[in-house]
Amino acid sequence: MVKRNYYDDSYLRHLSAKVTAVDGEWIELDRTIFYPLGGGQPGDTGHFVAPGGDTFKVVDTRKGDSSDTIRHQLETADHGLSPGDEVDTEIDWDRRYKHMRMHTSMHLLGSLIPVPVTGGSVGAEKSRLDFDLGDHQIDKEDLTTRMNALVAEAHPVVFGTIAETELDERPELVRTMSVQPPRGAGDIRTVRIEGVDYQPCGGTHVNNTSEIGAVRVSKIENKGKRNRRVHLLLG
Ligand SMILES: [Zn+2]
Repeated sequence: MVKRNYYDDSYLRHLSAKVTAVDGEWIELDRTIFYPLGGGQPGDTGHFVAPGGDTFKVVDTRKGDSSDTIRHQLETADHGLSPGDEVDTEIDWDRRYKHMRMHTSMHLLGSLIPVPVTGGSVGAEKSRLDFDLGDHQIDKEDLTTRMNALVAEAHPVVFGTIAETELDERPELVRTMSVQPPRGAGDIRTVRIEGVDYQPCGGTHVNNTSEIGAVRVSKIENKGKRNRRVHLLLG
């Protein structure tokens, strides 16, 4: 079972870890700070430094076939690493930190539009969240103003867990219809933005909404009679 250090501390940029499996350019570790693609958030990139000092780029991170493995994709299969090797790992922090700020801003956006979320995608430069809006009305300028107010109010973001059985009894906590939290591992991670939002979520987030900085709803796109796609930009 890989230890997911990005959950204990999403701000950790460096970590030394042991190689546990090698499959061509795909490397598994005993612990990792690399977030694997999932929940609309991209996999982390970065690099590994091998015991001999060679540096290899990590171009993507994915979940393994089983829920207890994470696969790091190196730029080459010609890396010479084998199980047992200790590697120094480092994520591309600028990219990840943007993902954390964007991801947290998506929770703010979701809290302002009390209808089902049908999809979403987090990117370093732009993000989007899809809503099954029905008769609910939304406005670009109004959402931007209210999101920036939530940023300025500096709400703490706190993490916890919820038992699968409790979540089954409180299905209203799951806002997204397309992305259900991962099941089968017992407790599910929760994210609470104090006074704003509470839901199960497996992504990486900032510790306080003030870190998001300026955020802007750049476009609201019509995706059918009931559905709207809301685009977000940072800065
Ligand atoms: Zn989240």
